[in-house]
Amino acid sequence: PPAFGQPAFTRRRVEGVKHLIAVGSGKGGVGKSTVAANLAVALSKLGYQVGLLDADIYGPSIPTLFGVKGERVHVDERNRLIPIEKYGIKILSIGFLLPSEDTPVIWRGPMLMKALTQFLFDVNWGNLDYLVLDLPPGTGDVQLTLAQNVDMTGAIVVTTPQDVALADVKKATAMFKEVNVPVLGVIENMAYFICPESGNKYYVFGKGKVLEFVRAYQLQVLGSIPMDPQVAETSDTGMPITLTNPESEVSKAFYAIAKLV
Ligand code: ADP
Repeated sequence: PPAFGQPAFTRRRVEGVKHLIAVGSGKGGVGKSTVAANLAVALSKLGYQVGLLDADIYGPSIPTLFGVKGERVHVDERNRLIPIEKYGIKILSIGFLLPSEDTPVIWRGPMLMKALTQFLFDVNWGNLDYLVLDLPPGTGDVQLTLAQNVDMTGAIVVTTPQDVALADVKKATAMFKEVNVPVLGVIENMAYFICPESGNKYYVFGKGKVLEFVRAYQLQVLGSIPMDPQVAETSDTGMPITLTNPESEVSKAFYAIAKLV
């Protein structure tokens, strides 16, 4: 029997993957997918072999962020899914399975878990240094089941400095701890805005709240990403800001984070 406090389940490794990093958040809309996408790009630019798996069933946005919406996935001779390759990154999204982008995902329970499990394990990932897993926001069954069944290096949680986001990210952090997935750190998104005219920093959602939270939970901040309209613009053009403008403050923050994970 497992020792007291140890999980009673065995976690499966994803074949060919050295480090599997889950990106989660307490709330939707805090920039989790943006972070997953730009972290994947930054890791790839550092010379690593990188894959990106979009498991955000409620709003799979990775295909849009990489301009691969509407792509079809094929299988290899062993019947494994072949990821779509874009900017040198191997991408799979639950969005590739949906007949049209307006189709809401109404799958529940076993069928959804079966699809997600297939998306991790029945894939020809090749050899990857990093597989970045974009989780759905919150702490539901999907996050829990994945955390319990998949051998992960750890999780990164994304939050904005708003009180509502922080309240939920505490729950997400507690969930990872509960199932013994190491929390590698916190990424503070939309931390501040730099005025293009004056260069002054404005802490739109307040300053210091994320630091307070990580101290209380004995975590670390991996990086703080400023607010930048270019982030939203580049989302629509299908090329993450870390590629279109690597010299921006946002991109520099992502490259620094990639060196830490
Ligand atoms: P989530 O995956 O948490 O739901 P998204 O990554 O989809 O969030 O981001 C939500 C919205 O906020 C998107 O329109 C995105 O372009 C925008 N966004 C995310 N991060 C930033 C940022 N640092 N600056 C400006 N806009 C951002």
